Amino acid sequence: MNKPKVYLVGAGPGRAELITVRGAEILKSADCIIYDKLANAALLRFVRPDAEIIHVPKRTTGRSFVQEEINEILIKKAAAGLTVVRLKGGDPGIFGRASEELNALIEAGFDFEIVPGVTAASAASAYTGIMITDKKYSSQVTFVTGHEAPDKEQSGVDFSWLAKSPGTIVLYMGMGGLGHISEQLINNGMSADTPTAVVANASLPGQRTVRAPLNRIAEVCDEQDVKAPAIIIIGDAATSDTRFDWLCRKPLFGKTVVVTRDVCGNADFAARIIERGGCPVSLPTIQIKPLTQKSVFLETLAKINQYRWVIFTSQNGVSIFFDALTKMQRDCRVLGSAKIAAIGPGTAAKLAEYGICPDFVPDVFTGADLAKQLIVAGNLSGKKILLLRSQIASKELPNLLNQAGAEVDDIAIYNAAEVNNDTKALTDDITANRINFITFASPSAVDSFCNQVSVDAVNSSTAKIVSIGPVTSQKLSQLNLKIAIEAAEHTIEGLIQAMENADT
Ligand code: SAH
Repeated sequence: MNKPKVYLVGAGPGRAELITVRGAEILKSADCIIYDKLANAALLRFVRPDAEIIHVPKRTTGRSFVQEEINEILIKKAAAGLTVVRLKGGDPGIFGRASEELNALIEAGFDFEIVPGVTAASAASAYTGIMITDKKYSSQVTFVTGHEAPDKEQSGVDFSWLAKSPGTIVLYMGMGGLGHISEQLINNGMSADTPTAVVANASLPGQRTVRAPLNRIAEVCDEQDVKAPAIIIIGDAATSDTRFDWLCRKPLFGKTVVVTRDVCGNADFAARIIERGGCPVSLPTIQIKPLTQKSVFLETLAKINQYRWVIFTSQNGVSIFFDALTKMQRDCRVLGSAKIAAIGPGTAAKLAEYGICPDFVPDVFTGADLAKQLIVAGNLSGKKILLLRSQIASKELPNLLNQAGAEVDDIAIYNAAEVNNDTKALTDDITANRINFITFASPSAVDSFCNQVSVDAVNSSTAKIVSIGPVTSQKLSQLNLKIAIEAAEHTIEGLIQAMENADT
């Protein structure tokens, strides 16, 4: 057996992609991951499915771990012969209590490696454009803790020295004591006007920056309800050129957007919102369940080359169809010479992933549009057409095709089962007007949402309801949700465009 090894890995400041390449590689090979409150749980996507994951938050409410307990877990897991990753927020060496864990490992005789991470100060600087060093105003930076261990007899922070030190002061863990710390600095001779900036949730979707003179910063943070984790930057750096603040110019910056698709759809939608600077809140309302085991699908597949057209109406339909083929060790050749139609560019792009370039994609994106355009484009009379789509899809498309003389088989390859969530926190956010948009991409998501969240609470809030298209809008109206915007292009990109153009 190899000698067990423990890796102290810096997870970076929040945004999952900010972990180092080395850190991600080690995560992939770990048997056991012990992670902090500040390490983004999204990093667990790198982890092997069979790895053991242990969450050890230190917090004031709920289950909290003291440092000794964490040390014990580390030793226990290493002693079991596992490759252990101790994933720590930011950089392990900066206010990370790394030395206590290292001492415990050395005493127990275990080998270790330390992998650095992007510390919160660097992230706060990069994601706001506040340069903590600058040739003109700051040749030195001091990292200071605003929270010392309660059992420490004498403070390690010398405020009389700090108040006179030139350059930039960067305070970690300072939100709880901000009023007291600024008072100490001013009492020790620092100017009350010293520019100060607080950057909360640096690099994360909910990032916020507040600027005020030192003597007012605590009060302004209170007024604006700015909470930890936050970095406090004191000195001329805090006034730096706001043109460098690139994140706040992203089109959805500062906007909180509820996404209500299935888990995978929400993950994709959320990533696009983050890319535009917004803050997604995921409420998975539906779960997509393949129906490709059912005999009706299997019988259809056996005769699929008899169809003149095969029509896909969603990305889900495409993925589920090809996943089923892969499981049967088959591929796109089963489609033979059938022509392929796709509703919308998203569905067409999904088909392209499987090497299929659809013969027909309508310019507009509803079933009725597809039918009308397909009827014009091809002589459908007597032609066999296969629809592969959701069990609960509207009958409009097959009815129109039937009327045009086509022979239509409408086969359900998935259904959308309702998912129930605890929606208390979301309802509170809606009621407190902390939500800017609530998005809907299908009627089934609307149904499920309305079974879980009070329609009255939504309608009396400032949250704007955004619908992907007319079919979803119809369902929203039926359930009395006030629609603020309907996307002009009925796709997820169209929904995003609609929010970007919204006047909020
Ligand atoms: N080892 C970490 C620091 C841990 S101390 C690092 O290198 O970043 C915890 C403090 O870090 C918080 O109180 C806060 O001051 C700061 N912090 C961590 N993540 C942050 C974030 N995303 N935005 C702002 N400050 C953050």
